[in-house]
Amino acid sequence: DGPITPTIFRAMVSLAGERIGEEAERLSALDGVIGDGDHGITMDIGWKAVRAALAQSPADETIETSCKRMAKAFLDAVGASSGPLYATAFLRAGTAVKDRLNLDAGAMAAWIGAASDGVQERGRAAPGDKTMVDAWVPAAEAARACAEAGDDVLACLDAACAGAERGMNFTRDIESKRGRSAKLGARSVGHIDPGAASTAVILAAMRDAARD
Ligand code: ADP
Ligand code: MG
Ligand code: MG
Repeated sequence: DGPITPTIFRAMVSLAGERIGEEAERLSALDGVIGDGDHGITMDIGWKAVRAALAQSPADETIETSCKRMAKAFLDAVGASSGPLYATAFLRAGTAVKDRLNLDAGAMAAWIGAASDGVQERGRAAPGDKTMVDAWVPAAEAARACAEAGDDVLACLDAACAGAERGMNFTRDIESKRGRSAKLGARSVGHIDPGAASTAVILAAMRDAARD
């Protein structure tokens, strides 16, 4: 279990896209309850575009350059809220590891942390607003804690997944303050936020691909 090479990184992104495709119906169903029912479709469109863009990557492309490619592809493909959110996340994440060829635990945690910060800055949602931020923030915090404790990159990704899962479940208990579901107010309580659910899918896929 060495560090994440650019090739492994692209395999991680590719599996994330594949899993989003497999989970699209479930994600849209979650969005159907508290939003407009398209989250699985919009994410699938974005991640398909990301996978197509990475298929053009030369073998020696750095992770930073791949992330820039991902950001542009996602933004160009997706009109929904998640378009600019993920585009900013990928750009920031890539920049956070721009001096790295391979990602060790610290760099992987920095990548997740920068993605999380990018989503927060772009969407101006805070933790507790019932958005994907509620999954990204605990994922990033758990990954950083793991890296600081000296754990390896796979342990870091495992911790990020557990954090995202916890955050996703927490969105069920709270009222939405951002995005379409905010219109429902208290009626949004009791339902998982679709963006938090897709975040958990993405991080779990990245972890699984890194492990194989
Ligand atoms: P749309 O709401 O435009 O149909 P999607 O259905 O693709 O877009 O995405 C909805 C998800 O986007 C929500 O579940 C939530 O997690 C996330 N979201 C919406 N607004 C924001 C925001 N301002 N900041 C962070 N995430 C947000
Ligand atoms: Mg929607
Ligand atoms: Mg929509």
